Amino acid sequence: MVYKIETIPRQKLDEIYEKSIEEYIDFFQFNWKYNRPKIFLIPDRKTMDLFAGHKTESWVVGWARKGNVYLLDDQNYEKESNHKYSDEEYFALAKHELAHCFSDVVSNSSGKPVWLLEGISIFLSGQYKVKPKPKVFTAFIDFFENGGSEVYKESGFAVMFLVEKYGKEKLISLLKGTKEIKTKEDFAKLFKSIYEFELSYENFEII
Ligand SMILES: [Zn+2]
Repeated sequence: MVYKIETIPRQKLDEIYEKSIEEYIDFFQFNWKYNRPKIFLIPDRKTMDLFAGHKTESWVVGWARKGNVYLLDDQNYEKESNHKYSDEEYFALAKHELAHCFSDVVSNSSGKPVWLLEGISIFLSGQYKVKPKPKVFTAFIDFFENGGSEVYKESGFAVMFLVEKYGKEKLISLLKGTKEIKTKEDFAKLFKSIYEFELSYENFEII
């Protein structure tokens, strides 16, 4: 089967893209010069499933893979997902997925822990601002190899705590270190060697 993907300019999204790339080059401290991430807008759920290679759930509206970003087209956003469209949500989504492209380079696509990668994207895209603040942390550490809608609740706040309290350099070291780890236990050791405290809920504060 041959599918035609039309190219329709998205000026505002382009601006968000340029701004995000600049911001991430600064945050992650490497200059992504060539073959920068591209954003592909996917027209509908059927084509989303085709690109994903499996049936996607109705809350799934985008992802990053191999340095590129795939988003459900803004024009069909409400029709083809269970989200309500707003510019704010959509641009934050694009920014979230672009952050994944950068953290994939830094972590050599380690893919784990999921909470750290999702947390970085939620924190950097500003999505945490529209999420209810948890009262206490109780679940994020368990999202190591597997994701799920629950991982988005706490992880952005956990990463925010790490960055605001200990700075981005440590976070980037942690992310780089995930190249070498295989298990949850390896990661806990890596975390302790960088932060000098245990990776446990009572050591994280909601800020
Ligand atoms: Zn994500």
